[in-house]
Amino acid sequence: MMFHKNESTLTAIIQLSKLELSSDYLNKKFNDYRLYTAAILLTLIPLGLAEGIFDYKSHPEIRSELFQLRLYFLLLVIPAWIILKSSSLKLSTATILITLVFSAYLGIKIIEHSGEELVTTVSNVALYPFFIFFVLIGFSIYIQILFLTVAFSFVVLSENHGVLDELIQNVYFQISVQSSVSALLIMLVFSWSYYHRYNLQLALEKSSQTDPLTGVANRRHFDNQLKSETTRSARSSVECALILLDIDHFKRINDTFGHPTGDRVICALADLCVNQSRATDLVARLGGEEFAIILPDTNITDAKNLAERIRKHVEDVYVTSDAGEIVKWTISLGISALPVNKRSANTIEIVMEMFIHQADSALYEAKNKGRNQTVLSQQNTL
Ligand code: GH3
Ligand code: MG
Ligand code: MG
Repeated sequence: MMFHKNESTLTAIIQLSKLELSSDYLNKKFNDYRLYTAAILLTLIPLGLAEGIFDYKSHPEIRSELFQLRLYFLLLVIPAWIILKSSSLKLSTATILITLVFSAYLGIKIIEHSGEELVTTVSNVALYPFFIFFVLIGFSIYIQILFLTVAFSFVVLSENHGVLDELIQNVYFQISVQSSVSALLIMLVFSWSYYHRYNLQLALEKSSQTDPLTGVANRRHFDNQLKSETTRSARSSVECALILLDIDHFKRINDTFGHPTGDRVICALADLCVNQSRATDLVARLGGEEFAIILPDTNITDAKNLAERIRKHVEDVYVTSDAGEIVKWTISLGISALPVNKRSANTIEIVMEMFIHQADSALYEAKNKGRNQTVLSQQNTL
């Protein structure tokens, strides 16, 4: 058991270290923290200015000079605005890194002006690693660690070059080690916890889109996908087809073999549809024993070929009932397609409704004509 737990933690760590490099993951992380990062940057403005109050007491002779330096905090409005508005992760990363370098430079200038006073030095040195953590929380853990390392290297460099006097240098170094290590631990904990939140969100999103019996898309996901495909088709004049399928006389299967056998038939049909269609197609269970397949970039002839392939495969497969009998069934299919190169005056909602309605009418016709067949919609009024 112990081994199992360790193994899964190790797997999670490996997965997380890869995700922290993946652009999808990093974009989501950035978007989740975007508002927070901008708020932190804006909050630092009054905090930075308020420090000027201490200067009044501790450095009355150079307070106006120090205050002028602190006015540079107002510039934080710029990165805050870019972080809030930018859709480019690269631009935001560059902006935040420049902000960190600029803040470090400002911190050093303030320390220099205050005559390397202990309190100012200590507060700047102690807080900087946490500042890195706060503003980089929405970025890759690698960037966080890299920046922390760079900041710490400066401490080591300044120690080697004897820039500051020895007492301050010792304090500076000790506090730097302590606050850098603490910030590093917090970064790792946050990266780990965001990873769990991300996985949980993915699982939730997947379950809200999935039909629990068959594992294919549910009605909600179908509606969303159909809307986006209809929109894409209208915008870019690409083809899109829709197949509706319904099991023939399913009531009889339930009545003769029982509900659990009926369920197995539904699952077998779902598997068959998934196996026969392409990865870009979307198979959905609309309810009961009715399914739909959205076929992006597909004309009505190719959609018919797929429909017929599925229908013929259904004739070949069977499930076994609880009593061990062989249960066979057939399906009826209706197909509609969105016309290409034809600008519709209707809204997307109306086009969508007609798209479904035409496939539904074709399915109805297939039922009326005796079932176990495919009918193409003859209407083209979209
Ligand atoms: P048709 O050929 O005209 O489609 O006839 P049909 O009997 O298949 O159609 P009808 O709509 O009359 O019956 C559908 C049946 O599907 C009725 C309902 O009890 C059953 N059903 C709905 N959902 C489920 C389910 O999740 N599992 C099972 N086993 N049966 C279901
Ligand atoms: Mg039916
Ligand atoms: Mg039905």
